[in-house]
Amino acid sequence: MTREKLGASDVGEFFSTSTDLMSILDSDGTWKIVNAAWPNSMGWTLEDLQSGPFIDLIHPDDVAATLREFDRLVSLPDATLVEFRNRQRRRDGGYRWIEWSCQGREGMVFSAGRDITSQVENQSALAASLETTRAILDAVVDSIITVDDNFRVLDVSPGTDRIYGVSKVDRVGRNSLTIVYSDDRMHVASELHRLFKGGDGNLTSYRFRAQHVDGRMLNIETRGRLIRDANGDAARAVLVSRDVTESVADEMNLKQAKEAAERANKAKSEFMSRMSHELRTPLNSVLGFAQILEMELTSPDELEMVGYIHNSGKYLLELINEVLDISRIEAGHISVMIEPLVLKELVKECVELVAPQASDFGITIISSSCYDVQVLGDQQRLKQVLLNLLSNAIKYNRPEGTVTLTCSQESGRVRLSVTDTGPGINPELRERLFTPFDRLDAESSGIEGTGLGLALSKGLIEAIGGTLGVDSVVGQGSTFWFELPIAEQATILSSRARPSLVRQATSSPAVTVLYIEDDVANVQLVERLLLKRPSIRLITALQGVLGVELAQQYEPSLILLDVHLTDIHGFDVLERLRGDSRTIDIPVIVLSADAAAWQQRRFKNAGVDDYLSKPFDLQHLLDAIDRHLFVAGFALPFAQPALEGVPNS
Ligand code: ADP
Repeated sequence: MTREKLGASDVGEFFSTSTDLMSILDSDGTWKIVNAAWPNSMGWTLEDLQSGPFIDLIHPDDVAATLREFDRLVSLPDATLVEFRNRQRRRDGGYRWIEWSCQGREGMVFSAGRDITSQVENQSALAASLETTRAILDAVVDSIITVDDNFRVLDVSPGTDRIYGVSKVDRVGRNSLTIVYSDDRMHVASELHRLFKGGDGNLTSYRFRAQHVDGRMLNIETRGRLIRDANGDAARAVLVSRDVTESVADEMNLKQAKEAAERANKAKSEFMSRMSHELRTPLNSVLGFAQILEMELTSPDELEMVGYIHNSGKYLLELINEVLDISRIEAGHISVMIEPLVLKELVKECVELVAPQASDFGITIISSSCYDVQVLGDQQRLKQVLLNLLSNAIKYNRPEGTVTLTCSQESGRVRLSVTDTGPGINPELRERLFTPFDRLDAESSGIEGTGLGLALSKGLIEAIGGTLGVDSVVGQGSTFWFELPIAEQATILSSRARPSLVRQATSSPAVTVLYIEDDVANVQLVERLLLKRPSIRLITALQGVLGVELAQQYEPSLILLDVHLTDIHGFDVLERLRGDSRTIDIPVIVLSADAAAWQQRRFKNAGVDDYLSKPFDLQHLLDAIDRHLFVAGFALPFAQPALEGVPNS
């Protein structure tokens, strides 16, 4: 349709169907005409509107401004466009934001209004959220900056000022690395390059040093994230940095203190160990000559005096042995010999040994029947522990008190408990029970002791693979107990055939190697060889059946296997190991005096990982152990040259 052909009806049609609010007002503000949008979207008919002046329907806060615009419209020359926005009331009482375009013409005001309520609301919501974000940024102590891909600072939060003492104006537009300490700039730059090379959302985290304007050196920890605009351009990094100077200093101090404590502890253990050795030699002469004098002297007086020397010497020897054991436990080098043993027999023997001490103190020992069960333990060490617990229960008891020994069994373990009727131990003091030389003030009680027994007992039981603990009620007494694994049937059967021997070289190693070998000399040789690998715990078994049993129980990282064993053949051992899901994958090195090729082939076909013929070269054996452990995933910090002092076989 051309302009000339537009008739009045077309204009009327356009006027009436427009969704914008269209109206013509008189110069006094009374309504002349409105289009259909008024009733449709505002709820007002022309009659409604004509019942009052237009200003009555304007939000009270917008009345003054609207009247100003209206006066301008009326007074300005015709055809001057005036635009403004205000809130117009609807019939339902609600207000809508309207953006008006008006013109005054021949004393009348022609206006077209568009509802922009949702736009205004969105804007104010955005403004509120920006306000909140700004407030959060202001409040955080961390420094938050944005940088472009040339590392130029685009914006900074106030936290930056607080950390570095550098104001926003001094940072925006400058390279962000200017505050980084010069030695660390390369590192930070490479981190930022890597960040910008990645995709949107790429993250980084790094530390660097920076100098505060007052000269202090700061340690800063930064986390960064890459962001891009909606088109994937304009890459920026948001970098959040925190001053970690204090925590870095704390970490450093803690590390130094820990290292110093470890050095001191090691020095102390070494000192105690050396001193104990040095003391034992002269003590040997003292005890030896005291015994000779006891044999030769006849005068009762002299015998009594020599008796004192002998007894004191024995006490001193005991003390030295305990100190030596404690220092070995602390250094992780305690050696224990594990075998299946009958607990009942051990209990009987110990009770007999402490009986004289119990009668001296007027204490009754009640030893209820212990199960006829075998446990895995070290006979001599268990005796030492049990004697110590019994002796304590007698010493720290009331007159005419009792000491009760009980046994219980649960999920493959046996618990042996020693209960006394003494004063009990205060809960606050219990932690100190196992500290060497700490006697919990017992020194003032006149009861003899060194304060080493419990620390030693706990260390020994743990080295054997058990646990030791205490329950106590003040005023009623204490129960000291230890738990040990029960020896399984197969172990017991084989142990009947011949006493078995298991050695454990250190108490807290990382890797376990099992050696199945019936020759004690060979066991000792490998044991000494592996002292060069302190992180290896060596377990040895003198029989094949026990070896398989221990392999299933300990699941070692490597097995060394002798061929000619006393109970079953090494090949049977291998078949049993390969037939059990727990041991199927454990690498096995065969050490055999049988160098026959067919024998080697037979073992290799059955899946052994290496075959070394005896007499084996120690360095070769050590290399083979290192190699197989390395392949099994253990990057062991091995000291290579250390073979001096180990005899070759
Ligand atoms: P000690 O040589 O002093 O007996 P221990 O290491 O065996 O050394 O015990 C450490 C301390 O624990 C003892 O000095 C004593 O104070 C306390 N203690 C040990 N056993 C008992 C017990 N059965 N009842 C009460 N206190 C005990």
